[in-house]
Amino acid sequence: MRIPLPRGAETNAFTVLIDYHGTPQDGLIIGLSARGRRVAFVDNWPERARFWLPTVDHPSDKAMTRFAIQAPAGWRVVANGRLNQTEHGREWDESHPIPVYTMVFGAGEFTVSHHHPVINGRDTIPIEVWTYPEDSAFADAVPFRRATEIVEVMQRLIGPFPYEKLAHVQSSTKFGGMENSSAIFYAEKPYVERKMGEGVVRHETAHQWFGDAVTERDWPDIWLSEGFATYFDGVIGAALDGDTVLVNSMRANAESYFKSDVTDRPIVDSGYAADPIKLLNANSYPKGAWVLHMLRGTIGDSAFFRGLRTYYRTYRDSNATSADLQRVMEKEARTNLGWFFHQWLYQPGYPQLDVSWQYDAGARKVMVGIIQRQKPEWGLFRLPVVTLEFRANNGAVMRRDVAVSSESRETSVRIDVPFAPAEVRVDSDGKLLLKVTAISRR
Ligand SMILES: [Zn+2]
Repeated sequence: MRIPLPRGAETNAFTVLIDYHGTPQDGLIIGLSARGRRVAFVDNWPERARFWLPTVDHPSDKAMTRFAIQAPAGWRVVANGRLNQTEHGREWDESHPIPVYTMVFGAGEFTVSHHHPVINGRDTIPIEVWTYPEDSAFADAVPFRRATEIVEVMQRLIGPFPYEKLAHVQSSTKFGGMENSSAIFYAEKPYVERKMGEGVVRHETAHQWFGDAVTERDWPDIWLSEGFATYFDGVIGAALDGDTVLVNSMRANAESYFKSDVTDRPIVDSGYAADPIKLLNANSYPKGAWVLHMLRGTIGDSAFFRGLRTYYRTYRDSNATSADLQRVMEKEARTNLGWFFHQWLYQPGYPQLDVSWQYDAGARKVMVGIIQRQKPEWGLFRLPVVTLEFRANNGAVMRRDVAVSSESRETSVRIDVPFAPAEVRVDSDGKLLLKVTAISRR
């Protein structure tokens, strides 16, 4: 659609009224729910808003929204933002600019349950669970039992919740969950089958900060959305239930990345810019989560979370790039992170290490050789801290950190070890995204 602008329109605000009607081919989907009732749900990602809403359908063109929806009697309507009763009827107002792909409404016969609201000073943020009536009790008791606590953890770690309310909505979205700003839509089947867990709720809730409030400027930076949500699923889980949740989730993330078919491509992948669906892959999600986890390991918890709080405060209700994140983190950590962002975002693959070792009993030293065995096309990786663990048969254990250089394929180190090791382990706490392809005693 092209709209000729009046003279002077480049500098002045003006209003365009577009009157249209019809049956959308996509984007706004009207049909039967998994419970056999008629429902209407918007499902835009990535560029399907254009089928029902005149917009510039790109993540960089965020806007505030107002929806006035008329629905059949007995239906309830949910949309972005706050519900207001006006002279024109009921209107949903979102007062923050949100990405077009999260501009939604849903309508049908819902049961709405009100969870404990989040209180931020004088602001009260309602937390609501919208379900088909048959699924309400399950939703409240299982996946959304801690919906309020999840928001509170994110606020403590990152900053204030970005919107007026948070509704968790059972819907016919084709995605497992869709992080629509302030009105998250979840796939309906996992409710019906009673298979839905809390992980998807933590993931989609984290998106309200990362993806929705801070939105990638363009599709190739989508890891700023999906990598963050994947990581914070584990981080929130760890805050609620202990560190093993994060350890286990990072292990699962590594496995799913290793066995994926995108290891030959980098995370920031301009080759898929024209086809964003292809960016919903193991680079954007699990490897993106690993980039954050390793960044945290590299600069420490305090600089990491301080940096993310600054990043959120700076780019909230706006757009960001990977370079913006790098700049903020470098400033907070007071160190150059160019090598880190380059090797993990713009190089494909991951380090594959062959480790060999030999004990010199006379000198009481272990000679360790580490060879980066990954494909040459993946390049070499700099790993400033790789923890080696030496274990003796009598139970003695000693740990030493060594640096693996990206200057050459081979790194050799001599380490004082006061006992004869029977075994050497590499990165036994799983702090790095790497594979030890061989470990041998020379
Ligand atoms: Zn996501």
